[in-house]
Amino acid sequence: MPARRDRQVTKKTQTNEPRKDDVESIRHAPLEMDAATFRKLGHRLVDQVAGFLESLPDGPVTREESPSAVRDAFNLTGPLPEEGMDPEALLEQTAKFLFAHSLFNGHPRFFGYITAPPAPIGILGDFLAAAVNPNVGAWTLSPAATEIESQTVRWIAEFIGYPLDCGGLLVSGGNMANFVCFLAARAAKARWNVREQGVSADSAGKLRVYCSAETHTWVQKAADLAGLGTASIRWIATDAKLRMDVAALRRQIESDIAAGDVPCLVAATAGSVSTGAVDPLPEIGALCKEHGVWFHVDGAYGGFAAAVPEAHEDLRGLRHADSVAVDPHKWLYAPLEAGCALVRDPEMLRAAFAYHPPYYHFNERATNYVDFGPQNSRGFRALKVWLALRHAGAAGYRKMIADDIRLSQAMAQAVGRHADLQLVTQDLSIATFRYVPRDIRADVGEEKIELHLDALNRELVDRLQRGGETFVSNAVVGGRYLLRACIVNFHTAQVDVEAVPEIVARVGRQVDAELCRE
Ligand SMILES: *Cc1c(COP(=O)(O)O)cnc(C)c1O
Repeated sequence: MPARRDRQVTKKTQTNEPRKDDVESIRHAPLEMDAATFRKLGHRLVDQVAGFLESLPDGPVTREESPSAVRDAFNLTGPLPEEGMDPEALLEQTAKFLFAHSLFNGHPRFFGYITAPPAPIGILGDFLAAAVNPNVGAWTLSPAATEIESQTVRWIAEFIGYPLDCGGLLVSGGNMANFVCFLAARAAKARWNVREQGVSADSAGKLRVYCSAETHTWVQKAADLAGLGTASIRWIATDAKLRMDVAALRRQIESDIAAGDVPCLVAATAGSVSTGAVDPLPEIGALCKEHGVWFHVDGAYGGFAAAVPEAHEDLRGLRHADSVAVDPHKWLYAPLEAGCALVRDPEMLRAAFAYHPPYYHFNERATNYVDFGPQNSRGFRALKVWLALRHAGAAGYRKMIADDIRLSQAMAQAVGRHADLQLVTQDLSIATFRYVPRDIRADVGEEKIELHLDALNRELVDRLQRGGETFVSNAVVGGRYLLRACIVNFHTAQVDVEAVPEIVARVGRQVDAELCRE
């Protein structure tokens, strides 16, 4: 190749005065890296990452450090450097810094929020995706990547029992996946051209959104960003199991219709963030059908459990939804970021986002993802998900999800057996519980005792999160402050869940002693 020869010639002459025609035809960009250097640095980094992953279980989940200590450890307050530096030293130092000052959601005792460890093949997939760097907004710019994303979307639908001819795309996470579905519902259900006229078109009724009080905060952001406003949300009460009360939903929809409003969508939750509750999807779906309301399911957390036979029967109801949001960076263990929006009728996605006619290539209809969502340039998020689905297979995934659920149940049992802990809920792979010193156990329910327990458990969560032995987050159920352990972690084993009660009780005793002394 002539270009290559030119470069070799230039290399030889590099130390001499560059000839005039070299200066004009060859560029020496500061970011250029020759293949030998790339290979050396890449191998070194892969070795470091492998060592990091291997040693993760032996270290703490996180370290107790202040924001300024983290900044100071790597001079993160300094000015933008004017001159560049040696990339080998740079990568070496940066990897060391990250390994020493991060929170590791890949640790087997990390149970906070709903955050999964990265699948190793997904780590490598992101590297490969960045190297090819397709722009998955347009088919022409990403022939292979677009087709891999399409297959990934179909496989996700297949895995959770959703129609294979649905539309969908990968986005940054559950929030964005829910937004995409929300905007599809808005375009479909407004009785005017809402994309052109906006939501304030005064010819028709107000668009209404329905969801339970347990719904994730995405719904407020969506109502706000979509122009409906958070006041358009009808918060539907929940039953004793924190599931949406379908009778209350029916009353609200019917009274809104009578008042001239337009019920736009019901956002049901398949696996609530706090406790893993699954709304009664079959009944909600039937009610939506009866009244022509868009039936959306937020399955960001629990959607993938629909693939596991022993998980909730109600999850099977998501197959009837007009749209579903799932989150591959949760229960598919994809490295952040990866969410996925699925819409039953692909034309509804185009109707919500496209400004172009469908695109044809060699007489076949080709997918331009720019027409199916809000993004223009798009990265190759699908690769890490696609690789992991192929690495583990559907059976491998069903096993990992079922094991996470089983381990959460085992943790709940271990908590229930402990004399100083009170188990409150266990659903999907989330257990909620609290520390109740045995000497005040008989007085639980008394307001003074409950206030003490709230303060005690609040401090306990904080202490556990800083301590590094295990990491739990919190939930508020029935007004009470609880610890919450969620397992979407294929590194977690029985020994890890059995260790939790004693760690919590030990730290709980310390906190209780300090609070009582005050
Ligand atoms: C995690 C979660 C979200 C938000 O998803 P992100 O990936 O964090 O954007 C929304 N809804 C539910 C039920 C979730 O569990």
